[in-house]
Amino acid sequence: MKFMRVLKILFATLLAAVTWNSNAQQLTVQPHIKLPDDTLTAGLLVRTLDVFLQALSDSSVPLQLVKFDEKAETELLCAELRNSMHGRPYLLNVAPINASQYIVQTAYMDATDNQPVIYAVFELLATRTRNSFVYSSPLLWNTRAWKMFKSSACIFHYADTLNMDAAKLHAEKVAEFDRMFDSSIKTTELFLDDNMVDFMKLVGIDYLAAYNGYSRSMFSIVADSRQLIVESSNTGSYIDFDLHELFHQRVENVLPVALLNKDMVCGAAYLYAGYKGMDWNEIVRTFKYRLTEKKPDWLALYMDAVNFAFSEKDYLIVTQFINALLIKRVMQERGIEAVKELMLTGDFRNHRHDFFRTIYKITGINEKTFNKDVNMLVKELK
Ligand SMILES: [Zn+2]
Repeated sequence: MKFMRVLKILFATLLAAVTWNSNAQQLTVQPHIKLPDDTLTAGLLVRTLDVFLQALSDSSVPLQLVKFDEKAETELLCAELRNSMHGRPYLLNVAPINASQYIVQTAYMDATDNQPVIYAVFELLATRTRNSFVYSSPLLWNTRAWKMFKSSACIFHYADTLNMDAAKLHAEKVAEFDRMFDSSIKTTELFLDDNMVDFMKLVGIDYLAAYNGYSRSMFSIVADSRQLIVESSNTGSYIDFDLHELFHQRVENVLPVALLNKDMVCGAAYLYAGYKGMDWNEIVRTFKYRLTEKKPDWLALYMDAVNFAFSEKDYLIVTQFINALLIKRVMQERGIEAVKELMLTGDFRNHRHDFFRTIYKITGINEKTFNKDVNMLVKELK
């Protein structure tokens, strides 16, 4: 009786899931596809995969179909697939890897003017449970023979070799920046691959039409205080990181990206992470050396994003530099919450009036007094 009740609940759940998404296409299983020998298992796999895919193409996947301890890994794959599920889904392959697990390959395809069009080909790991299947990204399966290195709150996964000194510094800086911004991320787990071609396959993507012809080097997701990053260095199996970029990434974890004033964040990165191997003191030295005008029109230089680097190929921008001076002052006088407010001033050139109103509120500097006040800040530089 109990078994029947469980089955009824299961089928009711499946039915409900299917009826939410009447627009999504049903999974096609062509006659030549080899399914598991046990017909109950085969039927369950096809039905649950169908529910999983229909829910994914429509919104989000029902949690009962996701492998519980691999939610972040699976969401990383799902987030990439969600916008590529056009046409009709076809089951391509069900490959058993042990008694209860299968690597399941699916393609989203269509035909236009008798020409086949492929939108996506991807793999999921299907794990048989007592009454159903749960699905996950094959990331952990694909990297099961990899090595691991823990430092501070970072865990590095790599196939062959890792630059331990660089990894330690990376972990230290992640901890420092996350502490500065009071980030809720407790662990950062990085899977570092050494070439662009293989790295999408690690998470389960064989092909996505949207990525045709371009290489992506990083997938990242934050779930339950944990950040998961899959990244390709393209220069060998070691960590090859840029401190300035790391600062930008850690800020983007804690503040809404759409509202960020990128030049303000970049200015803070000059101050706390340097730029292209130069630290803040070197940036200041370059700035003073290149500053030749007696009474510069700071507002014009600021709005025009003038480059003061020695080489035109490098970019040291006056806007970012002045922002760094503002951030330094605000951090000393009012703390991180006021700094965050400065960073959340969006596209300041298109909202100049609002921008200067916020700047005035936080720093006391307004558009009219800008030149005089920036002069004071520059004079204070040692
Ligand atoms: Zn920057």
